[in-house]
Amino acid sequence: MRLASLILFLSLFIVNQQAQAQIPRRNRTPEIPPPTILEYKPLSTLIVPEHEVPRAKFPTVDFHGHPPVLNSRSTIQSVVTAMDALNLQVIVQARGSSGEVLKRQIQAVRAAGQEDRFVFFTTVDLRNVGPGSGPRIASQLEEDVTTGAVGIGEIGKGFGLLTRKADGSRLRMDDSELDVVWETAGQLGIPVFVHTGDPAEFFEPLDFENERWLEMALFPNRRFNNRSRFPEFDELMEERDRMLEKHPNTTWVLAHMSWYTQDLGRLGELFDRFPNVYAEVGAVLYDLGRQPRFARDFFVKYQDRILFGKDSFQPEEYSYYWRVFETEDEYFDYYRDYHAFWKLYGMGLPDEVLRKVYYENALRIIPNMPKDGFPGQN
Ligand SMILES: [Zn+2]
Repeated sequence: MRLASLILFLSLFIVNQQAQAQIPRRNRTPEIPPPTILEYKPLSTLIVPEHEVPRAKFPTVDFHGHPPVLNSRSTIQSVVTAMDALNLQVIVQARGSSGEVLKRQIQAVRAAGQEDRFVFFTTVDLRNVGPGSGPRIASQLEEDVTTGAVGIGEIGKGFGLLTRKADGSRLRMDDSELDVVWETAGQLGIPVFVHTGDPAEFFEPLDFENERWLEMALFPNRRFNNRSRFPEFDELMEERDRMLEKHPNTTWVLAHMSWYTQDLGRLGELFDRFPNVYAEVGAVLYDLGRQPRFARDFFVKYQDRILFGKDSFQPEEYSYYWRVFETEDEYFDYYRDYHAFWKLYGMGLPDEVLRKVYYENALRIIPNMPKDGFPGQN
């Protein structure tokens, strides 16, 4: 009898263990129809200290600025009014423009008396590259710098993903025809601001385990998972790295922290390998704000290599950046639901690091930056 009950106990125990191991973790069916991913927006009930930050703590350079084309006094004035409220001292016009469009903006900004608030990057036309394209692009670059451009960019993600050569093949980022362009930028002392790829998930299958399912479902042009049309994420980054490697005397700024924010260690390796490389934080706040302690350590370690940038010019969105960088607030909303379904936390960056990220690094790597309005720069 005792043996029988022992066996019964053991067999129940084993069955129970097996049953636990076999229960798939997500197979419970709610008694009422569940909401869709778009419908479920629970309001947080958490009550914790909150510190809204409408103005940046220090005057800031937006390295990744996309204001409208600055060719009229009224447009310039409305952008400056928004900048003043946010403590944005200088915007880099990263809607790169060349020739007449560049000239007209520089003149309009001067005529409006706002030349201390904007600097301009030029652009390079990478379409239909073939023999002889490199020197032609480089001489246009020299002209635009004479006109007043202080950088190149933003070179968009088309470079590497979509742009075709004259012979119809994909223009590889490390194409040797472009070497003379990047060398010329180095000689002119201007940074090259380049956006490569997109979040790594966009290159992966669009399934229910993809963290960016919603964004990929909303925007068909953000799906790069068709291998017959696009390179792999890592292949693209290796190609980009070969370009960086060939031009150690050129200053490179990688947009969106090279889309490595879900793996900051990888960005650290890149910084260690290439001392002439910087990164800009636009549109990756959702990743920094979900790892506030690791991200703070990273920003402290690489404080000389990181630049503030916002990407799209929506004045009401900047304060989310100030709050993540400056406070230690917990579990607060992000501004764009298709980037992230999670909440953000503040990194509480030290003032020394904030100053570098907000303006000191930009003032160092962009030539002829207006210095007025920045503490200790006159
Ligand atoms: Zn951009």
